Order: sequence, then structure tokens, then C-alpha cells
Amino acid sequence: GGSRTTALMVRLGLGAPPPQVHAVRHADLSLHSGEVIGLVGESGCGKSTLGRIAAGIALPSQGAIRYCGQDVNAMDREQKRAFELGVQMVFQNPFASLNPRIRVGDAIAEAPRVHGIVDKADIDEYVAGLMRKVGLDPSYRDRFPHQFSGGQRQRIVIARALSVKPKVLVCDEAVAALDVSVQAQVLNLFMELRRNMGLGYLFISHNLAVVERFADRVLIMYLGRIVESAPACDLFLRPAHPYTCALLDEIPSLESGARTYVPIRGELPSPMNPPSGCAFHPRCPHAMPICATENPTPRNVESGHWAACHLIQ
Ligand code: SF4
Ligand code: MG
Repeated sequence: GGSRTTALMVRLGLGAPPPQVHAVRHADLSLHSGEVIGLVGESGCGKSTLGRIAAGIALPSQGAIRYCGQDVNAMDREQKRAFELGVQMVFQNPFASLNPRIRVGDAIAEAPRVHGIVDKADIDEYVAGLMRKVGLDPSYRDRFPHQFSGGQRQRIVIARALSVKPKVLVCDEAVAALDVSVQAQVLNLFMELRRNMGLGYLFISHNLAVVERFADRVLIMYLGRIVESAPACDLFLRPAHPYTCALLDEIPSLESGARTYVPIRGELPSPMNPPSGCAFHPRCPHAMPICATENPTPRNVESGHWAACHLIQ
């Protein structure tokens, strides 16, 4: 519905030299509260950079970020703090994000203590509540990170992110390092938090199959540009961009033999020196002469679904 709040908006012309009018639209995302946007592309395509920019921990060379309707560049100190707390990141490797010498309960308690999120007297109960919320036994609070499994460690990291009451989680390959069965459990936890807390997600993954499980909208990124944007169901049923089709072909089938794994031909070119025209043209099975010279502008496939490709009429 139109009444939902836009929690986060990012408009950038990432990696698009020379600057073009339409480049800005290519990294244009609006995240409503409770919404899940999946951002998908091969490693090195710029999706982590876009995630870091969205979370305010990397600065864009150009463009605009709005948090709860406000331009991040025009914020006063208090508003900036609300933005920094309101958008939290969860990374791939939970062990690297946790200090091995700090008890997990203390790690979870640190930010709410520093930022005065809860009264000192209530902090223990607050931490216990967060641990329960992510499916951890609060009696483990005095243990150290190495005493937990990979999935439990990611739950600790999630509890720590939730401790400052964010509106948005930017998850960068947040389940990529986990076993498949543990991945499903952590994804279920993300979905539960979305339902119960209205959390919005920018969910970054190289794996379309992971994103398919819970994204409302999927953005496909190639060499620093978003090349297709669609509601998740449309994207999987009617992908329009040849790069998206190639990524879908790369999803290994669960039922063996139903579909063969087709890797995308050719190497990912350097994002610092992208090919002319459509950056995908050296790898595209449908490339035409115009593709090498003219950068396709985004075209509507249907309402709410667009792709940047010369094939689309
Ligand atoms: Fe392929 Fe041309 Fe479309 Fe690029 S614009 S994806 S090269 S058909
Ligand atoms: Mg990355």
C-alpha cells in the first residue's frame, strides 16, 4: 500500500563512467519498512559497496541517500545517529565480527549501553530478551564466541544488530558461510524478525536461490549497475535481462538431472574498466552490434519490472 514508510532510499551513479542521465536510475532503490530487497550479482559487481553505502559506512562519490525521508547529507548530529543506529549490517563471517575475548552477553549489551537505549538497571533483562528473540538460551551469555557453532554465532551477531532497535538490516552474504540446513534456520529467523518487528532488509547475495526464499523485490547488479529490477515472482517467472537468465541457469537443481549447471561464459571484466556500450556484451549470447556502442536505458517490461537491455521493445 502507499501508506508504508520508505525507510531507506539510495540513488547513485555507481561505477558508470562517463556519467549519464540514466546511470542514476540504475542504482536507485527504495526500501519500505518490512520489505525485503534482494540484491544479486557475481562477486566483484559492486553489491557490497552499494550495501555499505546504504548502511552509511562507505561514502558515495555522487548521489543521495535518504533515511526515513531525510537526506543523510543534510542531517544534524542527532538525525545522523538515528541513521547510523537505524541501519545495521550483518556480514558473512560472524567469527570475524565478534571479539573472541568478549563474552557474548557483553558484546550484545555494549551498543545499547553506550547509546543509552535502555536503563542500566534493565540491561541484563534486555540482553536476555534479545538472545531469546534470536533463538539463543540466555544462560549462555557468559560464554565466548568460540564456544558457539557458526549458526549460533550469526545469531549472536543478529542479536547485537537488533540491540539498537534498527529499522533496516543490510545483510551481506549473511548466510553464505553456513551449512545449507543452518542457512534455512537463519533465513527463517530473518523472516520471523520481519514479521514481528517490521524490519526491512537489503539482502545481498551471489545466490538467487537464497534470495528467492524471501525477497519481495530483486535487483540484479552487473559491474556497478542495476540491470534489472522486478517483484521476485516476476523475476523468477519472466526474467528479461540476459544476465539474469544466465544467473538463473547457474542455480544448481536440487533434483539431480532436472537441470544442468550452466556457468556464465567468460570472466567478469574489471569494474574499473567496464566494456563499452552494454557492459554485459562480451559475455551475452544475444549481443548485437548496437550493444557494443550504446548503453541500454532501463525499459519497462511490465509495471514495476524493468531491465536495461536493447532486446526489450
Ligand atoms: Fe545482451 Fe545487448 Fe541486452 Fe546487453 S543490451 S544484455 S549485450 S542483448
Ligand atoms: Mg561482496
